[in-house]
Amino acid sequence: MGLLEGRRAVVTGAGSGIGRSTALRMAAEGAAVAVLDIDAATAAAVAAEITALGCPPALAVEADVADSASLGAGFDRAAEALGGLDTVCNNAGIGAVLPLDRYSDDLWAKLIGVNLGGVFNGIRAALPHLRAAGGGVIVNMSSVDGIRPARGEGPYSAAKAGVIALTRSAALEYGPTIRVNCISPGFIDTPLTALGLSAVPGARAAIDAATPLGRAGTAREVADVVVFLCSDLSSYVTGVNLAVDGGSLLPNPQVDPLLHGILGMLG
Ligand code: NAP
Repeated sequence: MGLLEGRRAVVTGAGSGIGRSTALRMAAEGAAVAVLDIDAATAAAVAAEITALGCPPALAVEADVADSASLGAGFDRAAEALGGLDTVCNNAGIGAVLPLDRYSDDLWAKLIGVNLGGVFNGIRAALPHLRAAGGGVIVNMSSVDGIRPARGEGPYSAAKAGVIALTRSAALEYGPTIRVNCISPGFIDTPLTALGLSAVPGARAAIDAATPLGRAGTAREVADVVVFLCSDLSSYVTGVNLAVDGGSLLPNPQVDPLLHGILGMLG
């Protein structure tokens, strides 16, 4: 018996990377999954991949998480096809790297609209269905950047910090029947990060050196934690932000030389 047997789930941004792995893992654990993405073709490909594995048939849903009407209609469609909803992963996100003063109004609005607005819209779209089901679980995707902002990622980091705050508010407001948690991945190998890695010589070695577990993570390793937070294994967990980062948020001489120098002097 799978960890999510009988569940009816939506995963946003499920056409690629962490969302794709999450949809596949949820299906392997017995959930019926709606694969929601802004790209109808990748959503359909992942849904076909799930169905071909002999898992419960998956549904592809095209929707834009930044557009509340589009996302609401997408969730409604998923609920209708799956016979209700009780499990949601608000995962879709986009990145950009620029000095703060070089972001245009449009790019700022897009980064906040998808990364933070997408989670806000996802919570609102999910609630009537989760309530109708008698309860449920929501897992939102933040980032280590929401805790320790990176240079060049101001709007992204601000949005991801907002996701952590929104998660806590939702956990307070919607317990005891609905649990709401979030995950902060560190550097994970996905199409989102592949471009940056290939553009910066030595980036892979620098990431490995700055990570106590010595490597980037895989989408599957994040998906496993989403499954944990959606399953009854975490039945007494709500309002947390769980880092899945190979230890990269720990104080580390590779990234915090000043701090370690001071501590070294203290003996
Ligand atoms: P990814 O491979 O680029 O996948 C993101 C998916 O979301 C893509 O299929 C993308 O479609 C879709 N999407 C983008 N905008 C959307 C919208 N407005 N509505 C619906 N779907 C949309 O990225 P990933 O690395 O798996 O990232 C997934 C999540 O993890 C994001 O929230 C990201 O911020 C977070 N995260 C990732 C890392 C990492 O190292 N990879 C680290 C920390 C946090 P298109 O491809 O058509 O745009």
